[in-house]
Amino acid sequence: MGTRKPLVVGNWKMNRTSTEAVALARELRTKLSMVHAVEVVICPGFTALESVSRTIEGSNLALGAQDCFWEREGAFTGEVSPMQLKAVGCGYVVLGHSERRQLGETSEQVHRKLLAALPADLIPIVCVGESAQEREANETFAVVSQQTERSLGTLSAAQASQVVVAYEPVWAIGTGRQATPAQAQQVHAMLRDHLGKLLGPQVAGAMRLLYGGSVKASNARELLTQPDVDGALVGGASLQAEEFAAIVKANL
Ligand code: PEP
Repeated sequence: MGTRKPLVVGNWKMNRTSTEAVALARELRTKLSMVHAVEVVICPGFTALESVSRTIEGSNLALGAQDCFWEREGAFTGEVSPMQLKAVGCGYVVLGHSERRQLGETSEQVHRKLLAALPADLIPIVCVGESAQEREANETFAVVSQQTERSLGTLSAAQASQVVVAYEPVWAIGTGRQATPAQAQQVHAMLRDHLGKLLGPQVAGAMRLLYGGSVKASNARELLTQPDVDGALVGGASLQAEEFAAIVKANL
């Protein structure tokens, strides 16, 4: 894993009210208080960001949002800007999650959001991944490379070093089916190689690539010990404090 610090991100999706989110964050704060070798980020829904931010203040947990808009401010009803996220304590933002791409979000839009997130000092976690049909048609590498290339676009080395990419095969998200460690490693190695061509091998070598798709405590260690897997983006299992804490600790 070299000098890349492991990163585990919990995507709570559209679950938990603000009060419930605070309770979960409190549990995680206690369970993970001794873990310093892994960066841990929790991503509650927008309405819980501020209260969870207060709950985890001074802890080793960081806060992320699940999306942001590409404009700084203005007449964009229903959208949330990177600056608004920063102001409530977010350090990270998930972009281009497949559940958003399935609703029509494009890599070009993800790129605009990325360019807005970086100057607001948010670390973008850009999600890419192929569908079951694309995998069966042997299009995995083509799809993942193209999504990555279009979502990241042209970035300076300094910008790219702030970016995290999450490989999340769509067929593995919320399905209970996960990529085997060998499948995950194969795509991650290809992705790093491709990032090397886009951004230079040094930058690509320092970037963190997360795996996501039905990660659980029982399969985390095998996945996370692959040489090009630098952590995990966890959905369902991140809503159970015990399970999520075990996934984080699988990196130790
Ligand atoms: C996700 O939401 O990014 C995810 C990987 O979900 P799950 O862990 O539930 O498959």
